[in-house]
Amino acid sequence: MIDCLFCRIASKEARAEIVHEDPEVVAFRDIRPQAPVHLLIVPRRHIESLADAGEADAALLARILLVAKDLAIREGIDARGWRLVTNRGRGAGQSVFHLHFHLLGGRGMSWPPG
Ligand code: 5GP
Ligand code: ZN
Repeated sequence: MIDCLFCRIASKEARAEIVHEDPEVVAFRDIRPQAPVHLLIVPRRHIESLADAGEADAALLARILLVAKDLAIREGIDARGWRLVTNRGRGAGQSVFHLHFHLLGGRGMSWPPG
């Protein structure tokens, strides 16, 4: 049995400010926001990272992208622009090993990211 923070948030065993949920996908506010809007979008099902997703997850991954752009509109960050990012592996900054996409917006963002 894995003990996974985002599995627990998705099943409501752990608290978070949830902004979207459907049968496959949950989105909630990051506890340490790096922008005025900083959401985490996750599949309910445990997948460690994007590198662990397969062909069978194609519809789920597409669903996450569609949820992200809908949330950007709902959160009022669409006009200014927003960023969707996933960290795969410790070297890229992944600290929670349940696939998640950061939706960041509400401020200008530089490129390349750090
Ligand atoms: P990563 O570093 O793995 O790409 O992103 C993990 C994110 O999860 C971080 O931005 C971190 O602030 C967020 N996080 C860690 N613990 C919690 C928590 O208990 N609740 C919420 N809402 N976010 C968390
Ligand atoms: Zn998990």
